[in-house]
Formats: sequence, C-alpha cells, structure tokens
Amino acid sequence: MAKRWYSLLTVALLVAGVLLPASPAAAAPTFKVPFPCGQTWSGQTRTDHSPAYAVDFNRTDDLGDPVVASAPGTVDRVTDLGGTSYGKYVRIDHGGGYTTYYAHLNGFNVSVGQSVGYGKVIGWVGSTGGSTGPHLHYEQRLNGNDIQVRFNGSLALYWGTKSYTSGNGCSSSTGSGTVNTSGTALTVRSGPGTGYDAVGTVADGTRVTIYCQTSGTSVTGTYGTSSIWDRIGTGRYIADAYVYTGHDGYIPNVPRC
Ligand SMILES: [Zn+2]
Repeated sequence: MAKRWYSLLTVALLVAGVLLPASPAAAAPTFKVPFPCGQTWSGQTRTDHSPAYAVDFNRTDDLGDPVVASAPGTVDRVTDLGGTSYGKYVRIDHGGGYTTYYAHLNGFNVSVGQSVGYGKVIGWVGSTGGSTGPHLHYEQRLNGNDIQVRFNGSLALYWGTKSYTSGNGCSSSTGSGTVNTSGTALTVRSGPGTGYDAVGTVADGTRVTIYCQTSGTSVTGTYGTSSIWDRIGTGRYIADAYVYTGHDGYIPNVPRC
C-alpha cells in the first residue's frame, strides 16, 4: 500500500511538472532612486497623477540636474513629444517585462539601444511637454502597466511626499586595511567591543577586508584612541585603532554595521 501511494504521488508530481511553466517569472530588478549617489530628492505621489503610481521628483534649483538610470538595462526610447505629455523622455527596458520612464527632461545623454548601468546619466531635469515647472516624472512599469514604485525593494509612499536619498551608483562598499600591532596578534571579537568573546586572532601585517564599521568600546592602539570597530567577516570584529586604513575615523563609502 505504501508503495502504491508513493507511485501515485510520483505520477502526480510528474504531471504537475509538465503543467508548470518552464521558468518562473523574472524577479523585479533592484531599482534605485534615479539620481546620483548621496543626493536627496523630494518624491511626490498623488491620486490624480497620470499614471497613478508615477512619482514626481523635485529639489531646490533642480533644472538641469542629472537624471540616472535606476537599474541596469537597455535604452529603448529616446523620444521628444514636443509641448505635450512627457515632452522629452527616456524609457529603459530592464528585462522580464520591467521598464522605467523618465519624463519632462531638458536633454538626453543616451541613445536607443545603449546599455546602461546603475548611476549612468541618461539626461537632465527639465520642464518639457505638459509640465508647469522643472521636475522629473518617473514611472516603473511591468508588461506596460504602471506599478507602484519601489527602491531597493521598499515601496514608495502612497500617497504623499517623502524624501528619498539615492544609493544609486555609489562606489564600492567595502574597504580594506592592514593590521599593525608591532608584533602581537590582534584579537578578533564576536562583536564591536572588548567585552565580546574572542573568536580568533589576525597576525600583525595582515591585510583585511572591512565590510562595515561601527562604534564600540574605546581602544588605544597603534593609531591612537578610537571607538571604531571594523567588521572583517561574519561575527568577526577588530579594533580600528590597530588598523591602517588611510583614514582617520570612518572610511568614506564603507557602510555602518
Ligand atoms: Zn508627473
């Protein structure tokens, strides 16, 4: 009896396998704020917008500011509709049915067929088409349909105005350093402080990759006194006071843990 059930189950799975699509729907690209790394823009959504889920972006003196691709893809439209609708706009095809629109541009910096990556400047903020003042009109679409905008997987505010800070095209997010202890091996801790368990050591002169930095107990070492701790692996922290990173304090572009 057990064997019979097993074989029926096997048949059922095989049938299901035949009926299921060969490949699942493509995951959404990781869209980022369509402005250069570190910039903060005010993004507005409103129920009377067309299409409804579009976001209008503004900041002070934004006419002519660069607009960047919000995810890698291929430019498939660089179009000027004149004094109506989107005016000058760019569309990027991200694959899997996903596209993004950048409208009311002042000018273009890409052409149809061009491959673009994160942070690539595609044009400049303008007030072309049916626009009453400089802003970027931005849309995400799936199979041609307007969808609610997400950045790094997080839903934009519907409805209202919110500040969005760009992490688009930011340079490498790891740092590196060299352990300098004048001979003694440096203790690796499970957390950012001398009170955490010792989980190993790194020899003097070791080159380490720093994934993130955080504040912990203050340590006096080769490079003075510092409360910065460097995470060099999962659950592995060393005191920055013993690491030559080329920077006093935090390393630019390396994230906080
Ligand atoms: Zn708009």
